[in-house]
Amino acid sequence: MRTLITGGAGFVGSHLAAELIARGCSVLVLDNLSTGRYENIEALEQAGHLQLVVDTVNDPQIVDECVKQCDAVFHLASAVGVRLIIEQPVRTIESIVGGTDVVLRSCARYRRPFLLTSTSEVYGKGMKVPFSEDDDRVMGATSKRRWSYACAKALDEFLALAHWYESRLPVRIARLFNTVGPRQTGQYGMVIPTLVRQALRGQPLTVYGDGQQSRCFGHVIDVVRGLADLMECDAAKGQIVNLGNDEEISILALAERIRRLTGAASEIVLIPYEEAYGEGFDDMQRRVPDLARAKRLIEFRPTRGLDQILRDVIDFEKGR
Ligand code: UDP
Repeated sequence: MRTLITGGAGFVGSHLAAELIARGCSVLVLDNLSTGRYENIEALEQAGHLQLVVDTVNDPQIVDECVKQCDAVFHLASAVGVRLIIEQPVRTIESIVGGTDVVLRSCARYRRPFLLTSTSEVYGKGMKVPFSEDDDRVMGATSKRRWSYACAKALDEFLALAHWYESRLPVRIARLFNTVGPRQTGQYGMVIPTLVRQALRGQPLTVYGDGQQSRCFGHVIDVVRGLADLMECDAAKGQIVNLGNDEEISILALAERIRRLTGAASEIVLIPYEEAYGEGFDDMQRRVPDLARAKRLIEFRPTRGLDQILRDVIDFEKGR
């Protein structure tokens, strides 16, 4: 079985590549190395398990050649990270909506199973916790650029489901909640790599807002197993499925835990959102996945809790 991973040199994509190779697949990666990094897949490529094409998912001809030679497609290529999204909204919208359209067209042409990694951002500011896949979505104003990402990803979901509806193209959609682990770069603002790095350098830990907003963090190893299982699951065709961990923590408590696990003497400073992101930002208070559907379809159960995640990230950052 040969599998295409768009965005396969990224944080999640490179872990997924390793998982698929362990399951006996050969992997073709299409990645423009904009936020992905060659080092993430270098060892897999050198071992002969993986081939890399450096190009963009917005090029129909390149995508077509890649899709044609593969049996299934995981579409992970996407703008990622709140900071990047706020600073480069054109690139965000064009790469997400345009890229998914191109990949889906080729999958439809060759009838290739397609899995989209979507995001818990699509739930927006919904207050009904936990978030289930069929819940209503609550989006902020279009003047807040953050929401362009959620809306673009939601449009990707609509487009994938439209292909399922009109021609029974086997599509699957995974909504990833905050996913963390080794290789995630804090460059685009993700909280855990950022705070861990600050702690290891003895710098102040920057907590935005009042720190009472909460998140649930899933280990990338659990998440990529879920992605691979979903592709193998017939009952997941045409379905949207949450993946992540449902252990909730406030960002302030997270900062305290990182300080304890690293033994850092850093102080924790509260920074107003405006100062952190400029205007165009809006945060969500809570974000917790309902994992019932993932459990039912693929017996998904996170095996790694927050302490393990933090220890893995701390070890990774120390080794860099
Ligand atoms: N955050 C923070 N300090 C940082 C980076 C992020 O307090 O240095 C906060 C951010 O405002 C949000 C949460 O941590 O409330 C998670 O942010 P992240 O960008 O990792 O993911 P999000 O859930 O916002 O997509």
